[in-house]
Amino acid sequence: MTYRGRFAPSPTGPLHYGSLVSALASWLDARAHRGAWLVRVEDIDGPRTVPGAAEDILATLERFGMLADEKPVWQSQRIARYEQVLEQLKSTGLVYPCGCTRKEIADSLLHAHARNTTLAYPGTCRAGLNGKPARAWRLRVPDGDAAVISFEDRWQGKQTQDLATEVGDFVLKRADGQWAYQLAVVVDDADAGITHIVRGADLMDSTARQIYLQRCLGVRTPQYLHVPVVTNDHGEKLSKQNGATALDSDKPLEALSAAARHLGLDLAGEAHTTLDRFYAAATSAWAKRMGINF
Ligand code: GLU
Repeated sequence: MTYRGRFAPSPTGPLHYGSLVSALASWLDARAHRGAWLVRVEDIDGPRTVPGAAEDILATLERFGMLADEKPVWQSQRIARYEQVLEQLKSTGLVYPCGCTRKEIADSLLHAHARNTTLAYPGTCRAGLNGKPARAWRLRVPDGDAAVISFEDRWQGKQTQDLATEVGDFVLKRADGQWAYQLAVVVDDADAGITHIVRGADLMDSTARQIYLQRCLGVRTPQYLHVPVVTNDHGEKLSKQNGATALDSDKPLEALSAAARHLGLDLAGEAHTTLDRFYAAATSAWAKRMGINF
């Protein structure tokens, strides 16, 4: 197997400490496996994308010494491919159009809740739109045991999610015409031949959906590793939305050393003197921690 990993930032603002942790972990895992490390700009969420943020993130990664082994891929240039995959799923009957508004879903969930069932999409449009206009496209998830997806996370251990009761049929193309993250990420990782995904634990909850979609498309499931997310003083995930500040590009070693500590890597004093020394020490410490033969 040739290892291929990636870092997939959403350009909603400059690189911050929380996203640096994910970038560093994916970079170290690729280096420890002597594999390739790719970067993908996830810029298809129109309303959230900030002009110039992607270029800024790429420049910061470079200044921090993390260079992609191949030209970065931009999701905004892959729309035709997502369309093609949706058509493929339509032809096999695995997806259906959904006419529910957010309010209608919330209302039926309220009833479901009263009946003590779960908060998954109740499948209102499974059997047809009932005269409503199509808004979104959903992937049908199976009932019963077939809906239970388990995987071994390399950091967090065994994970299990019941798609039928915890998620329900999920959206691949949104009512506003945007492509859902779940579809784009699976198609892009498969097309890029990604073998290992290393990212923040806030995405753990999406992984079962992605594995199910991989099975529907007949593509390989990569190995997963979700690193603990960085939280702010209120215990919330650090994000551009709750005030995470941009990294100081003049002091990459300070931020990188803090990120390494967050990942539980104990580096000797001299690792903090140059970027080369930092990456050499951090790569072997990562390999040791993760049991990789380096
Ligand atoms: N673009 C996503 C984010 O920034 C990450 C997607 C992924 O790694 O699968 O949260």
